[in-house]
Amino acid sequence: MNELSIDEVLAEVAVLVKPHFGKGRVPDYIPQLATVPGAKFGMAVRTVDGGEHVIGDADEGFSVQSITKVLSLGLALNRIGDEVWTRVGKEPSGTPFNHLSLLEAEGGFPRNPFINAGALAVTDILLDKVRDPAALVSGFAGFLADGPVAIDEAVAASELDNAWQNRAIANLMRGKGTVRHDPEAVVAAYCRQCALSMSCRQLARAFLPLAAGGFSPVVEETIFPERLTRRLNALLLTCGIYDSVGSFAYRVGLPAKSGVGGGIVAVVPGKATVAVWSPELDRFGTSVVGASALEAFSQLTNCSVL
Ligand code: GLN
Repeated sequence: MNELSIDEVLAEVAVLVKPHFGKGRVPDYIPQLATVPGAKFGMAVRTVDGGEHVIGDADEGFSVQSITKVLSLGLALNRIGDEVWTRVGKEPSGTPFNHLSLLEAEGGFPRNPFINAGALAVTDILLDKVRDPAALVSGFAGFLADGPVAIDEAVAASELDNAWQNRAIANLMRGKGTVRHDPEAVVAAYCRQCALSMSCRQLARAFLPLAAGGFSPVVEETIFPERLTRRLNALLLTCGIYDSVGSFAYRVGLPAKSGVGGGIVAVVPGKATVAVWSPELDRFGTSVVGASALEAFSQLTNCSVL
């Protein structure tokens, strides 16, 4: 049995990750993200029984980027149901998150909802139901986090100005029929959704339904049916960290989602959520310090699901 309290674990994690600063790079393909100091580090744990534990820059908002793809997928599945799976798959891609060639080879059908192609397809699906999917996702995030969540319009504009690869993906899918709205509108909505600014504390709260069988102990409401929660966690475990998901599972052993803003959220089913932020990324777009922090956390608490 582990003797350390969660606060002691976080303090030890903060020491253990120190040698990993400077190993990754802050991304510059979204120029606004390049302005964030690389040495930031925050971590938050929210337990299903109401505990909340933070360390470092855990209350500083950062660009959560692809972590929002879990929220948009959850909304789409809640509203539209299994029909979502006629437009996007459930398999790991083995390719970078913004890759095109596999998509083309497979008739414009994205491998999973977390690569950009799949998330763009989910945005397109949400556009069938609402005019402003980014507002829907930010409202959902704020509701789950029990506090306001804003879209950072400077980050959104900065990504949209440079979103040539995502435009190519959306146009390819429009040609194949997996995207049905104007590709430019889909990319614009997607960039705004990715530009949500949240803190580690907010992320840990917002993802808690995935650790609590679909119920949010934060807002005391059922958010997802229990079966859907298990399915979302399965997708996170197999597709949440793109083409390094295998080594992440090997190291950490938890369902998780990364974003190029340097955030990672991990789910300990039945127990807790853990959100970490540190902006320097590896070549797969995952926070170097964040992944090391989750590896240390998982080992110190023995919470791997595997
Ligand atoms: N908005 C980013 C992009 O499309 C999201 C990528 C990510 O966080 N992995 O490139």
